[in-house]
Amino acid sequence: MIQVSLFTLLFIGMSVGVAMLGVFWAIAVWAERRTEMSARADLVHCRICGHIYENGANKVVSACSQCGSLNEPTKPKPI
Ligand SMILES: [Zn+2]
Repeated sequence: MIQVSLFTLLFIGMSVGVAMLGVFWAIAVWAERRTEMSARADLVHCRICGHIYENGANKVVSACSQCGSLNEPTKPKPI
């Protein structure tokens, strides 16, 4: 039988708990970023007026709804 002190047992338990929290946190951040990237996939940032609009038809070049200038699909910067 392996003898383990109370301190070692508590340390191992806390280490496993902190490691699990870290893994859950990393998974949550990854899922959040993935959701944000998919939500921003159709957005276009106008290079003239800075307006962000949705390119629903996924056209190569789309017209800005504010100023009418033509823009290529470039995703806006992450928040
Ligand atoms: Zn514009």
